[in-house]
Amino acid sequence: MSPPIGVTAAKEDARPEDTLGVYVHFPYCLKKCPYCDFLSLPSERRDIPHAAYADAVIAELSQRTAGLESLPLRSVFFGGGTPSLWAAEELGRVLDAILARFPNRTSALEISAECNPSSFDERVARGLREAGINRVSLGVQALNPGRLQFLGRLHDPEEALQALAVARAAGFARVSADLIFGVAGESAEEAAHEAEAVADTGVTHLSAYALTIEPGTQFGELARRGRLPLLGEDQVAESFARVESSLEARGFTHYEVSNYAKAGAEARHNLGYWRGEPYLGLGAGAWGTIPVADRRLRYRNTPSAERYLQWPAAQSGLDLTAEGPFVAVVEPLAPDTLLSEGLMLGLRLAEGVDWQHAEARTGARMWNPSRERARAKWASRGALLEEGARLRIEKTHWLLADGIIADFM
Ligand code: SF4
Repeated sequence: MSPPIGVTAAKEDARPEDTLGVYVHFPYCLKKCPYCDFLSLPSERRDIPHAAYADAVIAELSQRTAGLESLPLRSVFFGGGTPSLWAAEELGRVLDAILARFPNRTSALEISAECNPSSFDERVARGLREAGINRVSLGVQALNPGRLQFLGRLHDPEEALQALAVARAAGFARVSADLIFGVAGESAEEAAHEAEAVADTGVTHLSAYALTIEPGTQFGELARRGRLPLLGEDQVAESFARVESSLEARGFTHYEVSNYAKAGAEARHNLGYWRGEPYLGLGAGAWGTIPVADRRLRYRNTPSAERYLQWPAAQSGLDLTAEGPFVAVVEPLAPDTLLSEGLMLGLRLAEGVDWQHAEARTGARMWNPSRERARAKWASRGALLEEGARLRIEKTHWLLADGIIADFM
């Protein structure tokens, strides 16, 4: 394990807290996966309102950015849903509008699109490249036909590997793949072999998530009725450890609990979330956290794609800092909430979190009796390390991260 990392990508840029990420949510997928709790609507490609959705996002962009233009743009992330289903010229039109709005950019602007192997071929890859995307993240999830079927995916292992090869051949220097481990019937050895096979395709980044069962999903419902086969916690932990050692042996750094990168290939957009930087969320159901006056404001757009498509082209009295027909949630963030969230996300990083910096950024006080107790408890077990003001979870305790972090909340 290298020293605290995740800093490579941002080193040459402005101070992290002064940069902005833009997230664009594209809410359509060919089919709903049974474990997924993201906002995604099953739709055939031909039925998606490609141009109308782009128009709505561009209208929102023009109305949301007042006061943000001076922030250097660090990253743009098209997530979903399945952005590789979006007509590339429409996605490109949105990207052009974002770039025109933010002429001030960091030196290594990352522009990512999430793609699914079932909707990613040479034509789509070329279209995304031409639109300005410089990083793709492919939802591989597994390389075993039975597990892919169990996860409700539309692709098979060959198509997943083919999509990764297409991404490389199309000239994307930065390619990421998502994998899910901890699925019933999968041994730790199999999980590690899948990670190795994906790593060997030349990807520069890999996200490996343990399968989580979310309420409100098809899997959540099956689990509630005791009808979903699940892997035991010990086996999941073994898979986590085996995946880690396989990827580290291949030159990947484990820089966040679920994320691995070759040197300099950390996901800059996600690092922004984990480091508590502001981000502008655009699109149906998108969340954003932006500075407004001297505070941070969190908001969520309407999760109804139908409603979102009616976003008015002209602002016409729309107050986006209050809940209304197009904005489902608005929440000014109190200093202590900001600091708690900074801890919650920062402690998932190998680099950890600098509490003095967090205090200065949020205006909240870090230490109170409850956090002092958490600090003493986990430090005495060797799980919490302190270097100056930097706190981090010792890597062999990462599987306990959620519990440790909960103690600090
Ligand atoms: S493809 Fe992704 S976003 Fe769409 S339903 Fe499946 S997991 Fe959810």
